[in-house]
Amino acid sequence: MNGLMQQRQLLISDLIEHAASNHGDQEIVSSLGDGNIHRYTWSAARGRAKQVANLVQSLGVAVGQRVATLASNTHRHLELYYGVCGTGAVLTTVNPRLFTEQIVYILNHSGSTHVFFDVSLAKLVAEIAPQCPNIKGFIALCEAGQMPDLAVPGLACYESLMAGCSDLYAWPQLDENSASSMCYTSGTTGKPKGVLYSHRSTVLHAMATCMADSFAISARDSILLIVPMFHVNGWGIPHSSAMAGAKLILPGSQLSGENVYSMLRDEKCTVSCGVPTVWLSLLEYAENVDPDQRRRDIVATRVLSGGSAAPRRIIEKFEQYFGVYLCQAWGMTETSPVVTVNVPLSRHDNLTLDERFDLQMLAGRPLPGTEIAIFDDEGNRLPHDGHTTGQLKVRGPWIARAYYNREDDAWDANDWFATGDMATLNADGYLKITDRAKDVIKSGGEWISSLDLESAALSHPAIEEAAVIGLRHSHWQERPLLIAVKRNGMDVTAEAMLEHMRNHVAKWWLPDDVVFVDALPHTATGKLYKLPLRKQFESFRFSTDVENA
Ligand code: AMP
Repeated sequence: MNGLMQQRQLLISDLIEHAASNHGDQEIVSSLGDGNIHRYTWSAARGRAKQVANLVQSLGVAVGQRVATLASNTHRHLELYYGVCGTGAVLTTVNPRLFTEQIVYILNHSGSTHVFFDVSLAKLVAEIAPQCPNIKGFIALCEAGQMPDLAVPGLACYESLMAGCSDLYAWPQLDENSASSMCYTSGTTGKPKGVLYSHRSTVLHAMATCMADSFAISARDSILLIVPMFHVNGWGIPHSSAMAGAKLILPGSQLSGENVYSMLRDEKCTVSCGVPTVWLSLLEYAENVDPDQRRRDIVATRVLSGGSAAPRRIIEKFEQYFGVYLCQAWGMTETSPVVTVNVPLSRHDNLTLDERFDLQMLAGRPLPGTEIAIFDDEGNRLPHDGHTTGQLKVRGPWIARAYYNREDDAWDANDWFATGDMATLNADGYLKITDRAKDVIKSGGEWISSLDLESAALSHPAIEEAAVIGLRHSHWQERPLLIAVKRNGMDVTAEAMLEHMRNHVAKWWLPDDVVFVDALPHTATGKLYKLPLRKQFESFRFSTDVENA
């Protein structure tokens, strides 16, 4: 027997309709560089999104056709988020920081026919255009007077095209399972893989991130979206902020500590989201602001951090400088991305601050709708006891079930998606990522967590950044090597480092050697990139290795 409830489709266009109808005067603030700030409202954004819908239809873009962006977080990118998807076309947000070869691959593999790009990326567009023969139009996200001097097919000015488009448009009632947008994984090895989101998965994800034990986004919030909109739909904030009717601040591409601080202060942001690297820059800037002034300037109550593990010193400083709770979340491109969020339970009310920091080091608990579990190599489920490490798998309505036009064995017959992360889960369901599977160190048959070692190294005040890799050892098979960057003007010896780390990790985990370098390699999304490090240290021999004697 079926229920007698209405079968309304879950559509992205309904999110902006809701925001415009119920929170129409709530602001969207966009930084366009050089101190140039654009302001409008959810109501105006809806009109502009409808203009975009008319624009893409005038370009001949059909339902299901892919339209790409190479753009930072601005109001124009937001309009494309709604206007393109709302017609039934698919928005492919491409990360301009990837290698050119990868960008070309993504544009060709996705079959994108049009690219909307930031003028600051004109040089990149000139480089890729000849290698992307299927792209019929490159549309510069600017006013007529700001057009770049480019010889690429179908070059057009966004604002000129928009001026000719009506803001009247009736969103089609699409099937909620229709594709809405596509993001490619950052591809540290091999080719990037396309993840194709649907209207349904996007709306459900937005709803789950608004929940109280999640990002808790409400109409009272003013959200600074630092996560790039080309990275996993900006963690869904462009959607959840419309769903909640929150004020949204789009910072463009100027993400220095000073700029982030100013935006948090000037727009009275209550919440923000970003990767740990951005938070480090903010904290470095804030270090030199008068402590009372800091507290007056920053009214935020929480910042969301994900993409990689947040070092403890970031968590501590957020509390110390601003009284802000740093809330870790875990997810990945394949998972929309948010799966777990670290919010305390009532039983944590009486924790000391130090114990609360320990709790904040975890990646959080799964959102309703998602399931997470850890497995051994034979596919057996492992206990959630807080110390058994296993392969993290996940399933749920906003988790990918395949890659776009590509075979992959990451899924099993029961829909479990193998994330490639190694993790523990405790009895309360809090997740702790201990490693990427390929980064894990196995010493004498036992696991050593490179993330725990990195976090122990980072807790030393003289350490700016740290990477731990496993290298061959004749007795233990593998042992950890710590490669660290010292903070400007500060010094520490290898021995002092190890002495410090001894207080944070088991003795047998301590790295066998410490090497100091000037800088560490990063991926296009700012994560530590261990592949080149492994190559660089391929022939390194530990001082503890008897083979060296
Ligand atoms: P991406 O698909 O680029 O978003 O990368 C996803 C990967 O980032 C995950 O598989 C994790 O390895 C890592 N990651 C994301 N969030 C966290 C977190 N809170 N702690 C540790 N690693 C994380």
